[in-house]
Amino acid sequence: MYTGSCLCGAVRYEIHGQVDRTSKCWCKMCQKQHGAAFGPYANVAASALQWVQGTDAITRYASSAGVERAFCKVCGSNLTWQSVIQRDRIAVTLGTFDTPYEGQVVHDLHLESKPGWLP
Ligand SMILES: [Zn+2]
Ligand SMILES: [Zn+2]
Repeated sequence: MYTGSCLCGAVRYEIHGQVDRTSKCWCKMCQKQHGAAFGPYANVAASALQWVQGTDAITRYASSAGVERAFCKVCGSNLTWQSVIQRDRIAVTLGTFDTPYEGQVVHDLHLESKPGWLP
């Protein structure tokens, strides 16, 4: 089981299940949303993710057709990325994990937009 929370602590979640796939997404939209070189995600079954606190603080933004990004409206922490045509899976941001994730992040997505300022 993994636990996670946003920066201000309003939103808390638990993941009851396996992390099947982790990725760093270097796409321009993830860079904008995270204000960083990439967005780090853990892909889990949507049924494994349980919001345990603060669902009223969660806001969703459709960054493109068919994609929903959830974040805390109080502190701005990015929480999840989900395809609306594949609701059974959800990508949870690794940076909001409170339980350390001990695995490796092996998948790189959209490396074509990796910024030159990152070594
Ligand atoms: Zn927050
Ligand atoms: Zn992305």
